[in-house]
Amino acid sequence: MKKCSVLVWNEFIHEKSDPRVSAIYPDGIHQTLKEGLSVDPHLDVETATLAQPEHGLTGEKLNSTDVLLWWGHCAHEEVKDEVVDRVQKRVLEGMGLIALHSAHYSKIFRRLMGTSCSLTWREAGERERVWVCNPGHPIAQGLDRYFELENTEMYGEPFGIPTPDEQVFLSWFEGGEVFRSGNCWKRGNGKIFYFRPGHETYPIYKNPTVIQIIRNAVHWACSEGRWIDSCPNVPKEEAPEFKESASKNSETNPSE
Ligand code: ZN
Repeated sequence: MKKCSVLVWNEFIHEKSDPRVSAIYPDGIHQTLKEGLSVDPHLDVETATLAQPEHGLTGEKLNSTDVLLWWGHCAHEEVKDEVVDRVQKRVLEGMGLIALHSAHYSKIFRRLMGTSCSLTWREAGERERVWVCNPGHPIAQGLDRYFELENTEMYGEPFGIPTPDEQVFLSWFEGGEVFRSGNCWKRGNGKIFYFRPGHETYPIYKNPTVIQIIRNAVHWACSEGRWIDSCPNVPKEEAPEFKESASKNSETNPSE
């Protein structure tokens, strides 16, 4: 069985500028995610970051990627539009995309959704209860009815997204808000999953349940096919039986 090629993309800025973040993720969020995903022998995991040439997202690299994970927060606008175009094209062809936490405001996620993708938020270390609202979904396999994160940043409704094709998780926060925290869409031939948990000042990606969900999502989104859409001009091809019945019709119809 061919392994699923996974690329974890991280803007990798907070880890180098904020000691609270580097204490949790000394090698970057992308490395922690890579370690969590790499325990699965069916996944072949690599990483890329904003500072690399072409943000580590060359045509060649994307062409061999089955699922792209995206973590960004303070540098969304630094991502070059030509790279966003390239990622979008690959999603439409069949590459899976998993947008994590503050990637709700990334250029690529907003491009693919076509809506504002805004939300309400509060950074107060509140408890979050993530409810599984679609227990039969592949991304929810192995989970209980809900799980809790003791300290999180709150994200609340309204969330400016198109209605998800499938809703997997719904979060409740200590302050009373709720949020659609695990949502699936298809764009072209590619599957997209938005997953809320992951604020950089809390060790969210060290939580085994969170990592299990991201692994499940990678398997769900892993491309099964590819459609290179070029809008081709094609010559007319008539089926022989169609020609035959068309000529019969003209013989029996006196008006022609
Ligand atoms: Zn955050």
